Amino acid sequence: MYNAASLKAEEFICHEEIEATLAYADAHKHDRELIGSIIEKAAGYKGLSHREASVLLACEEPDLNEKVCQLAEQIKKDFYGNRIVMFAPLYLSNYCVNGCLYCPYHAKNKHIARKKLTQEEVRDEVIALQDMGHKRLAIEAGEDPVNNPIEYILDCIKTIYSIHHKNGDIRRVNVNIAATTVENYRKLKEAGIGTYILFQETYHKESYEHLHPTGPKHNYAYHTEAMDRAMEGGIDDVGLGVLFGLELYRYEFAGLLMHAEHLEAVHGVGPHTISVPRVKHADDIDPEAFDNSISDEIFEKIIACIRVAVPYTGMIISTRESEEVRAKALRLGISQISGGSRTSVGGYTEEERPHDTEQFDVSDQRTLDEVVRWLMEGGFIPSFCTACYREGRTGDRFMQLCKSRQILNCCHPNALMTLQEYLEDYASPETKAIGEKLIAAELSNIPNEKVRSITIDHLAAIKEGSRDFRF
Ligand code: SAM
Repeated sequence: MYNAASLKAEEFICHEEIEATLAYADAHKHDRELIGSIIEKAAGYKGLSHREASVLLACEEPDLNEKVCQLAEQIKKDFYGNRIVMFAPLYLSNYCVNGCLYCPYHAKNKHIARKKLTQEEVRDEVIALQDMGHKRLAIEAGEDPVNNPIEYILDCIKTIYSIHHKNGDIRRVNVNIAATTVENYRKLKEAGIGTYILFQETYHKESYEHLHPTGPKHNYAYHTEAMDRAMEGGIDDVGLGVLFGLELYRYEFAGLLMHAEHLEAVHGVGPHTISVPRVKHADDIDPEAFDNSISDEIFEKIIACIRVAVPYTGMIISTRESEEVRAKALRLGISQISGGSRTSVGGYTEEERPHDTEQFDVSDQRTLDEVVRWLMEGGFIPSFCTACYREGRTGDRFMQLCKSRQILNCCHPNALMTLQEYLEDYASPETKAIGEKLIAAELSNIPNEKVRSITIDHLAAIKEGSRDFRF
C-alpha cells in the first residue's frame, strides 16, 4: 500500500502507485485541459506531485512541452538567478565488494587497477584541486568494509579540511559513499560533511536486484531507506539521483519524486539536491548493454520537469555530459556543475588524464578555468560559495532562504565575492578580464543597498589579499 510517510521502502516507493501513475500519465498525455491546469499550478512555484509531474513528462503536445521548458527556465532564474555552483569529485578508493553491473568498480572486474589513496596522496590531490580553484568537493568511494571502512572516510575528510595551501581551502566536503548505518551517518555529520549523496540507481525493485546481484548493495530496502537513516543521524542535506539508462525513465522519474515527497512527509524537508547521471562507457562497461538509454531531448525534458516539480531542490550535472548538453541543461534548471573533473583514483596529480582507474569516461574534458570562462560568456556567474552550510543554513533553513527570496541579498553577493577570489588566485588573464566586467555589472543586481555597499568593500579587500567573506 502506498504511503509517503511510511519508513518502509516498498510503501513509500510503491510499485503499484508508480504503475498507476504511469498509466494515468499515458492516458492524459494529450489532455490539454489537464496539462494546462498542471502548468498553471506549477507556475505558482509550489511544486507538483509525482502524478502531476508525470503527466507533464508524458505530455505529447509540443506547444505545452515548450511552456513547461519556459516555466522551468523562469523558475531557475527566479530561485537560483544566474549563479552556478562549482564542485569537483574526489575519488578516494575504487576497492569495492559489490557486483553492480553498470559500474567498472564491480568486484569481478579483474583488469581495473585497484587503488586507494593514502592520507599523503589525499593531501596531494587536495592541493592539486585547490590549485585549480575548487572550494567544494564530493568524495567518492566504492563499498568495501575492509579497505574503505568508515574510519578511512573520516580520516580523509579530516585531512581534506586540514589543508590550506596558498589561499586554497576546501570549505565543503559532500560525501557519496554507499548506504550505511545511523551511527556512521552520525560520524559523518560530526566530521562536518555538507550533503550526503546517494544515487538510488533505479527505483524498480526487481531491476535493482538484478543490477546489483551480489554484495551489500543488493539489499533494495537498505539502500532505499538510507536517506532516512542519514537524517536520523543528523544529516540535514541529502542528495538524490537515479542512473538514467538502467530502467524506464518515466518509472525512475516518478520514483524520484515519490522519494522527495517521502522525505518531506517524514522529515519536513525535501532533498537538498537531485543529480541526473546517465550511464556512460567505462572499463568493462558498455552502455549499450542497458537498453533504456535516453536521448538528449528526453534528458532535457526530465530536467525541466524536475525543475518545475521541486523548485527548491538544487540540481547537479556532472562531466558525464558534454559541453553542448550541459549548456541546455543549465538553462532548464541545473544549479551545480563539476569542472575539470578526474574520475580516477589519484587522477588530479597526474599530468595526463589517467584511464586505468576511471569510474566512467568524462565527456566534458575542459579545465576548470575553461568551464568558468564558458559559464561567464554564457551570462552565468560561477560561484564557489559554501556559506549556507557554514552558517548553519541547511535543511529547512536553506529552504526558507529560497522561499523568502532572500537569495539575491545573500547568495548573489556571496557568489560574486567567491568568484573574485577565484579570479585573483587562479584565473587565466582572459578569464579574469571577463570576470571583472561581470562582477561590476552584477553588483547592481543586489537589491539591498547596505548589502551592496558591504559587498563592494569586501571585493576591494579581496583584491588586497583578504579572503573568505560571506553573508
Ligand atoms: N559506491 C557508492 C554507492 O554504492 O553508492 C557511490 C560512489 S559511486 C563512485 C558514484 C555513482 O557513480 C554511482 O552511484 C553510480 O550511479 C555512478 N556510476 C557507476 N557506474 C557508472 C557508469 N558506468 N556511468 C555513469 N555513472 C556511473
